[in-house]
Amino acid sequence: MEKPKLTIDEMAVFCKRKGFVYPSAEIYGGIAGFYDFGHLGVELKNNIKKEWWKTFVQQRDDVVGIDGSIITNPNVWKASGHVDGFTDVIVDCKKCGSRFRGDTLIEDKLKIPTAGMPLDEIAEKLKGHRIKCQKCGSELSEPKKFNLMFSTNVGPVQGSVAYLRPETAQIIFADFKLVQENARLKLPFGIAQIGKSFRNEISPREFLFRMREFEQMELEYFVHPEKQDECIFIEEVSDYELNVLSAEMQKNKKNMGKLTIRQCLSKKIIRTKWHAYWLASMHKWFVELGANPEHFRIRQHVKDELSHYALDTWDLEYEFPFGWRELQGLSNRTDFDLKQHMEHSKADLSLFDEESKKKILPHVICEPSQGVERAFLVFLFDAYSYDKARENVVLRLHPKLAPVKIGIFPLVSNKADVVKKARGVYDELKQRWACTFDLSGSIGRRYARADETGIYATVTIDFESLEDDSVTIRSRDTTEQIRVKISELKDVLTKFMEGEKLGKLGKSVGVK
Ligand SMILES: [Zn+2]
Repeated sequence: MEKPKLTIDEMAVFCKRKGFVYPSAEIYGGIAGFYDFGHLGVELKNNIKKEWWKTFVQQRDDVVGIDGSIITNPNVWKASGHVDGFTDVIVDCKKCGSRFRGDTLIEDKLKIPTAGMPLDEIAEKLKGHRIKCQKCGSELSEPKKFNLMFSTNVGPVQGSVAYLRPETAQIIFADFKLVQENARLKLPFGIAQIGKSFRNEISPREFLFRMREFEQMELEYFVHPEKQDECIFIEEVSDYELNVLSAEMQKNKKNMGKLTIRQCLSKKIIRTKWHAYWLASMHKWFVELGANPEHFRIRQHVKDELSHYALDTWDLEYEFPFGWRELQGLSNRTDFDLKQHMEHSKADLSLFDEESKKKILPHVICEPSQGVERAFLVFLFDAYSYDKARENVVLRLHPKLAPVKIGIFPLVSNKADVVKKARGVYDELKQRWACTFDLSGSIGRRYARADETGIYATVTIDFESLEDDSVTIRSRDTTEQIRVKISELKDVLTKFMEGEKLGKLGKSVGVK
């Protein structure tokens, strides 16, 4: 089996052709940085969100969820520092007016990292290396700061500026006290949210990787300030192994190494157990849903990259066709955000500590925040394969993620009783799973279409089915086929979706 690496552009073409993702309103030429999800895309996206919510909220008694509004009181963004500091550096072409990000121009030309580089240094480098307009080669303007928040007016009054939220985290901090009280949460605990965020990126690129409107799955995890290393769950992940690239390794130009969480902690590569626990948990979530662990690594931020508020930051990264890129940043934000909101709102956000009988301000030990669309790309890249024998693309998505789980095919489309019987099977199975009913084209063609869109199993109804009430189930991944009674179909499919081998669930009738 060969797995050619798709480029990101080829993935965009595949997504459009198969109905996963389209440029937004393409009949008008689209709009950069915005995408619409088609039928299969919205199903896949919903499945990703559902699995994340199940794992990190519903199956934990230390995490609760919220759904905050997209536009909120603008003072939230003053307190968080976004109004003053959420900026990129831009330069304009003096002749053609094209606009560029100063740091990307430097990265592309000088091949050096620019994270955390201040405005004057960017200006100096652009000038010093005579960097010109990428489009027409003319002179560039002085670089200036550009705020990435989308602003709007609330109500009919001009000047009542509000913002589309650039991240979901701040709503969690603003609602922190109410949520804690309502859910009677005791430290350590987390608050999670899935929702849209908006960033007016200067040059959105790489398809779904950098968008202007996107969705986040975010978790803020709060701990007692004096109990930052008392992670009660650490044993669950101690032996978990992953690719690690520490700040030290980067400094000494070393390659990443494979380490267990236990080793990372004993060698003090990761500073707190909580941080290690969440890094492993997020990594594990991807792998358990079928992603390839070799395509992942955790990378520590080097000193220049660290945000002003962060004590230590690790990124969970994935090897995209265009290089290693961040999937989520997990930083130790300390009590920075709660402090800022206390100061600006004058509300008391501290908690009463029963043990010390004192008021304390919790620390955010970790904020695993995952872009839904980036996860979407990861699962598609790892699932996409070209099967030489089948001469066809097979999208090997995990059954929990597959947009459509089962295809129901009458073998022939011109025999009313076969079609009717197949309809009956479809009507029953659709009660439990996302199913599709397909009777157009040869059976081979229908299998190929199903494989390409990730349909996990197909059920074929033929002339024999009319006589003995049996049907054929075919596996997308192995093309193995078994014959089972319709009365057993639901049971067999349930076990197959849960990972049992198809051959063990019925009478094998070969591979097709
Ligand atoms: Zn130009």
